[in-house]
This record gives sequence, structure tokens and C-alpha cells, in this order.
Amino acid sequence: MAFEGLTGRLQGVFDKLRGKGKLTEEDVSEALREVRLALLEADVNFKVVKDFIAKVKERAVGQDVMKSFTPGMVVIDIVNKELTDLMGGTHTKLAKANKPPTVIMMVGLQGAGKTTTSGKLAKMLQKQNHKPLLVAGDIYRPAAIKQLQVLGEQLKVPVFSMGDQVSPVEIAKNGLQFAKDNNNDYVIVDTAGRLHIDETLMDELKNVREAVGPHETLLVVDAMTGQDAVNVAESFHKQLELTGVVLTKLDGDTRGGAALSVKAVTGCPIKFAAMGEKMDALEPFYPERMASRILG
Ligand code: GDP
Repeated sequence: MAFEGLTGRLQGVFDKLRGKGKLTEEDVSEALREVRLALLEADVNFKVVKDFIAKVKERAVGQDVMKSFTPGMVVIDIVNKELTDLMGGTHTKLAKANKPPTVIMMVGLQGAGKTTTSGKLAKMLQKQNHKPLLVAGDIYRPAAIKQLQVLGEQLKVPVFSMGDQVSPVEIAKNGLQFAKDNNNDYVIVDTAGRLHIDETLMDELKNVREAVGPHETLLVVDAMTGQDAVNVAESFHKQLELTGVVLTKLDGDTRGGAALSVKAVTGCPIKFAAMGEKMDALEPFYPERMASRILG
């Protein structure tokens, strides 16, 4: 699980704080210095860490920590609250169209987990008694269409495909029409990724977006790639006005910094977290729960 290193480090800092009866200003400063280092080691963006520590300090001064009976606990509580805020504060729900179907466009680099996440999302919606349709719009990655079809069969979710010789724009448009004709209330459009961001990719994604007018444009990013994930999110957001981020591979041995930086850097809420390859390994992202998990 991601964050193990960070959790261990923070627990060490907090144990020290709790262990002391009275705290001096110096104790608190020392603790915050260690929190700062722990966050940097977890690959959290440098500027994000700086702002974070400044905010914690500000709150600590505001709450007059030293006058409290349990200053250590107050500091921990402040860190918890700031961590929650850093990740977006509250859970941001998936948008829902006033008039179905709700169109969700999945974007991201190749290998980030777009196709897998599309399947997971379909499963989640199906469990909530919706009738999702998966649209196979990744015509470039070999076997991406087949992969989606296999997932669809496994989940008993229909998959709309036109093969790989038709443009993604046509596929998306026709997929949307198919959903309307078949009463699917959610359409999940899997799109092509590339190994790196390039103009051709972005132009194509913009065209797909224009053609189907998605209610959600979700960027799927691999949390294992750390700061790169944050840079990718920034670029995609600039070009495509994302409505949310899905962080994948949080089950891996990552340092987790991407999860902590991505909202602060892009302003885009994290809507889901994926923690495994299986189809049920997708969770709505709750900043407060994630903060508690990180603090251990
Ligand atoms: P795409 O190119 O973005 O469509 O990526 P895929 O959906 O094909 O995923 C790439 C690889 O990452 C596959 O082997 C997936 O099984 C794996 N994967 C996707 N999400 C997760 C996750 O949350 N955890 C782990 N461990 N692997 C994942």
C-alpha cells in the first residue's frame, strides 16, 4: 500500500509529541520540520509542502496550541485537517446529467490504467443499479479494444466498438447514439493514450470531447509515477479542462506524493482511487478517510 513510508515517519513524529507532557514552541517547530521532511521524502511537490507547513503553523498559532492541555493531540489534529484540505477537503461526487445518459470520458497516458478503470467504473455503476455502456475508443494500443470487450463480457456490461479503422470521434458519437437507443444511462468512453503527451493526442481528445460533450472528463494517472503524474495532470488539465482525476496503483509500493499534490497543483478533485488490478478495486476518493489512513 502506498504511503507506508510516510505513515511510519509521521507516526514516529507524533509518538514523540504525545510522549511529552508539556510542549515548548521548539518541540512543535521540530515536529513540523520532521513532517516537512517526511512529506518531501514521500515525493510531495516542494511548493505544496511549503504551503502545507505554513498553513499548519498558522492554524497552530490561531488555536494557541501551547495553552491546550494536550498540545500534542492538537498539533496532530491540525495536521490531519490540513492533509484533508490538501486532498480536496470533501468528497466530490461523479457528475450526473439532468437528462441521461451521463457521458464520462476517460483520458490519460498509455498504461495508466484507463481501460481497467473504465471497467471498474462500469462495475461500480452497475452495482448502483445503473445501465452503463462502455465505448471502445482506444484504437491505437494493440488489444485495447479486445481488453475492454473481455472486461465487458466478464461484467455483463455492453461494449460498443467499431474496430480500429474508424476515427475515435466517430466511435464516440455512434457510441453515444447507441446508448440513447438502448437506454444506457451512463456512457464511459475509453480513449487512446500515448506514451507521452503530444499535440496529436490532445487534438484528438479535444475533438472527441467536442463531439460528445462529456459531463465528466476524468484523467487516469498512475500514482507510481510520482511527480510525473502531477505534471501529466497539469498538462491535461490545461488542454482539456478535466473535471476529475482517478489515481491508480495506490496499492503499489509508491511514495504516494502524487495523491497529496495533484489537487493542490491542478485544482482538480481526485474522484476515485484504484488499489489493485481486480474489477472491484476502485473506491470513491474521500480526502478525510485518506488523511486518516495516512496518519495511521
Ligand atoms: P491503459 O493503457 O491506460 O488503458 O492501461 P490499462 O488499463 O491496460 O492498465 C495497464 C496495467 O496496469 C494493466 O496491467 C492493469 O492491470 C494495471 N493496473 C491498472 N490499475 C491498477 C491498479 O490500481 N493497481 C495495480 N496494481 N495495477 C493496475
